[in-house]
Amino acid sequence: MRMGIGFDAHRLAEGRDLILGGHRLEHNRGLEGHSDGDVLLHALTDAILGAVAAPDIGALFPSEDPRWRGVQSSVFLRRALEIAKQTGYEVSSVDAVIIAQEPRLSEHIAPIRQAVARLVGIPESAVGLKAKTTDGMGFIGRGEGVAVHAVATLVRLERTV
Ligand code: MG
Repeated sequence: MRMGIGFDAHRLAEGRDLILGGHRLEHNRGLEGHSDGDVLLHALTDAILGAVAAPDIGALFPSEDPRWRGVQSSVFLRRALEIAKQTGYEVSSVDAVIIAQEPRLSEHIAPIRQAVARLVGIPESAVGLKAKTTDGMGFIGRGEGVAVHAVATLVRLERTV
């Protein structure tokens, strides 16, 4: 069994869509980024890559590379799943904490969780997801951005003889 950890933070900005876990939320601001800014998928991608000691998302998909401009972050996640598979592992569960002062995420947790389960290819019962605020403290508390901590558990692929 392998475990990996991932972290990411993105700025909130006007004129951007807010996408978390591949799910689009209605909000007056969205997450900045070279890609679609999906901070949750970025942290999950790094957790999966970390579990198999692969290079991280920034090394695999450099933000200077025009190929990744505006791309859906599910592309990064799928690549991480492929790399894990090539290494002989598949994801068995993920868990994440979204840290955001705004918008209120409680009513969005269920659809985000569904979207993550579908993208990772595991049951919803294997996707942990929580939303926290920082009680108004720091850059998140001032509504400047959103951060995510994520972990992934991977198990050895069954070998067919
Ligand atoms: Mg990122």
